[in-house]
Amino acid sequence: MALQEKNYWLTTTEFPTTDPSQPLPEAVDVAIVGAGFTGLSAARTCAKRGARVAVLDSQTVGWGASSRNGGMVLTGMKLGVDKLIKMYGRERTKRMYEASLASIDCVEQIVNEEKIDCSFSRCGHLEVACKQKHFDGYARQAEVIDRDFDHKLRVVPRHELSSEIGSAIYYGGMVDEVSAGCNPAAYVAGLGRAAIKAGASIFEHTRVDSIQRSNREGVTGWSFATSRGPLWAHDVFIATSGYTSSTTPELQKKLIPIGSFIITTEVLPAPLARELSPRNRMIYDSKNYLYYYRLTPDRRMLFGGRAAFFPENDQTIRRSAELLRRGMIQVYPQLRDARIEYVWGGTLDFAFDIMPHAGQLDGMYYSVGYAGHGVAMATYQGQKIAEMMAGDNPDNPFVGIPFPGAPFGLYNGKPWFLPFAGAWYKVLDWVS
Ligand SMILES: Cc1cc2nc3c(=O)[nH]c(=O)nc-3n(C[C@H](O)[C@H](O)[C@H](O)COP(=O)(O)OP(=O)(O)OC[C@H]3O[C@@H](n4cnc5c(N)ncnc54)[C@H](O)[C@@H]3O)c2cc1C
Repeated sequence: MALQEKNYWLTTTEFPTTDPSQPLPEAVDVAIVGAGFTGLSAARTCAKRGARVAVLDSQTVGWGASSRNGGMVLTGMKLGVDKLIKMYGRERTKRMYEASLASIDCVEQIVNEEKIDCSFSRCGHLEVACKQKHFDGYARQAEVIDRDFDHKLRVVPRHELSSEIGSAIYYGGMVDEVSAGCNPAAYVAGLGRAAIKAGASIFEHTRVDSIQRSNREGVTGWSFATSRGPLWAHDVFIATSGYTSSTTPELQKKLIPIGSFIITTEVLPAPLARELSPRNRMIYDSKNYLYYYRLTPDRRMLFGGRAAFFPENDQTIRRSAELLRRGMIQVYPQLRDARIEYVWGGTLDFAFDIMPHAGQLDGMYYSVGYAGHGVAMATYQGQKIAEMMAGDNPDNPFVGIPFPGAPFGLYNGKPWFLPFAGAWYKVLDWVS
C-alpha cells in the first residue's frame, strides 16, 4: 500500500451522524464550543444533569486532536514532579497527581458505562532514558511519587530493559502500570454517542464566530453568532484546545499551538511486534523533543513526535513522514524494511507554563493546555467543569492556579516564535 496522508485511526472508526439541516435552538442552558474529549465529556455530564446542551464544532465530532493522538492514557503531567512541587508546593501537587490518576479511572468508567469499543486496556506506560543522567533522575522521581503521592513506579535498569522494549539505545526506563492505551478515534466517537444519548445536541460544521455577553428575558447569558445562525446560552464552555482562535482572543493569547505528527507502519508479524514491545506498553522517551510510540491493536508500530513545530499542513505532514521514519529506525533498526502506510498531524495546546488550566475567564468556562497529555485529563476536566457549572464545588487543583500569558505581552495568538522555540528545545536536549 502506498503511503497515505491520512489518520490511520479514522480507518477503524465509525462516527455518530448528526443532521446537517437541523436548525440551532433559540436558547440553551449550556453551549459548548468544540466536540473533542473536553467538550463531549462536559456535554455528557451537563445533559445527564438535565441541562439543555448544544455542542458546536466548526468541523465534525473528534476532528481535532481527540481523533489524531497516540491513544496514550497517561498518569502524571507533562512537567516532572520536582518542578511541580517548586511551582505549586507539595500539597497542591499531590492533588494534581491524584487528579491525574483519577482521570484514568474516569476514562475507564465512561468506557465501561457507555460500552465504548475502543480497545481500552491498562497496559501501563514506559518512559525510556536517552541519557545516563535522565536515568539517574528516575530513582529520585519514583521515590518522591511513592513517598508523597503513594503511587508506585518501577525503575528498570538498562540490563533488564529488554523485557520491556526491543531497542538497545536507551539507558534504562521507568514503568507505570496504571496508565492505559486506547483507540482515541473510537473513544471520541463513543463519547459523542454517549453525549447524544444523554440528551445533548451536537451541531457539526457550525463555526462559532463571536460570543458576546447578552440579556434574554432579564437573564444574563451569552449570544453566539455562528455559521448556522444565532444562539443564546446561559453558560458557555470553551473546549477548543490547540484550535483555539480569535473567537476567544483572551484564551488564544495564552496558548501556543504546536504541531505533532504520527506515522504507522504496515501490520507487523506477531513475533516482531512482541520483540519491539513485549508488554505492549505506551512508550515515550525522556527528551524535550520527544518520540512517543506504541503498537496499535492490529499490530502496527505507531510512532509520533514533534517532527516540525508548526501545526499540521500538507508540507509539515510530508516532511514529518521521512523525519519520523528515520527516528523510528534509530530506535528500532528491525523496522528498516517496514512499509510506512499512514502519516498525519494534529495540534497540541501548550500554555506558557506547560500546565493544564481550567475554570472561568471573562465569565466563560474553559479547559485547555493539556500539552500532549490530554486523553485522560481532557475527559476529566470536561466532567469537573460541567459539575462546577451545575453549581457543585468539585475539588479541581487546576482551577485558580496562575495562568500566565506571554512574557511582556509579546504574543497576539500568532506564534511567530515557533522556529526559535523548536531550535531552543533541540539545544536543551543536547545540553541537558
Ligand atoms: C498528534 C497528537 C498526538 C497526541 N498524543 C497524545 C497521547 O498519546 N496521549 C495524550 O494524553 N494526549 C495526546 N495528545 C493530546 C490530546 O489529543 C489532546 O490534549 C486532546 O485531544 C484535547 O482534546 P480537546 O477536546 O480539548 O480538543 P480537540 O480534540 O482538539 O477539539 C477542539 C475542537 O474545537 C473545534 N473548534 C475550534 N474553534 C472553533 C470554533 N470557533 N467554532 C466551533 N468549533 C471550534 C475544532 O474544530 C476541534 O474539533 C496528542 C495530540 C496530538 C495532536
